[in-house]
Amino acid sequence: MTFPSELPRDYLLTVLTEECAEVIQAITKCQRFGFDFYKEDYGLNRDVLAQEVGDALGVIDALLPFLDGRIIEQARSQKIARVLRWKKIKENIDAK
Ligand SMILES: [Mg+2]
Repeated sequence: MTFPSELPRDYLLTVLTEECAEVIQAITKCQRFGFDFYKEDYGLNRDVLAQEVGDALGVIDALLPFLDGRIIEQARSQKIARVLRWKKIKENIDAK
């Protein structure tokens, strides 16, 4: 995939910041009102979240040429294992 060269790194970082904020907002709507809650002027929460995740991933795709792909792939492949490890730590803390 090629991206237009008129999108410089710092501009993409700003756009990604905005998109991450929109993902956060969509997540909190799911948490507050439910994954399947629909509001006329907003839409279905799960679909809005999917749209915002897609927006963020699109900007991340455009940022990839500026980032070390080996670090990304290592972090990506290990993330769920880290989440599981911290979930167990949290469960042990809560059990005390
Ligand atoms: Mg967006």
